[in-house]
Amino acid sequence: MNQAQALYHLQTIDLAISEHQFRLAEIEKRLGQNDKVIIAETALQHAEDVLIPWQRQARDLELEIKSVSEQAETLERSMFTSTGSSPKELQDMQDKVASLKRRRAKLEDDLLEAMIEIEQGEAAREKAAQALELARKEWAEEQAALSTEKETLQQELSELNAQRQEALKAVSEEGLAIYETLRKSKRGHAVSELEGNMCKTCGVSQTSTVVQQVRQGHNLVFCASCGRILVQL
Ligand SMILES: [Zn+2]
Repeated sequence: MNQAQALYHLQTIDLAISEHQFRLAEIEKRLGQNDKVIIAETALQHAEDVLIPWQRQARDLELEIKSVSEQAETLERSMFTSTGSSPKELQDMQDKVASLKRRRAKLEDDLLEAMIEIEQGEAAREKAAQALELARKEWAEEQAALSTEKETLQQELSELNAQRQEALKAVSEEGLAIYETLRKSKRGHAVSELEGNMCKTCGVSQTSTVVQQVRQGHNLVFCASCGRILVQL
């Protein structure tokens, strides 16, 4: 293996290491991130906030209907049992009973409206509760899958680092310095394969002298166009 080939091998490992690190960073970001669950919790809370006032109102209306009904009944009873009342007093009582009954009819209408709202509100709450349950289930599954993937990646990464140490043994100090500098400016791709007489990365043809030097592999040879180290595999 010549220097260019040794550096190409190192590059293959370094690219894999970068990919692993990138994916691990992505996973780190998503672990513990439960936006969908929070949105579903908020939706359920909202459904309850809409429903609860109607339930309270229905209870109040029921109590009031009961009270109005009792008042009307008591009044009617006393009308039939009272003996000493004047016609004027009886008329007043009758008017009062009629008024109470009108009031009860209005309250019953309101109660019916509240019951319809409650029915709709309960359906909405049920739907929101189911959506929350699903979001929690999916979140748990996703977190478990991400944790497993993270473990695998970490294991692979430590293997890659060991491979890198091994690959470095075939690399000269000078070669490594050139490689590291190029790697920074060329997005990780410091070494390019020679394909025929062409640099595979930038596609530019090289002179026959360059091609020959690359094949001999005595020294590092650079692409005339992109400046990468050329390698013949
Ligand atoms: Zn090139």
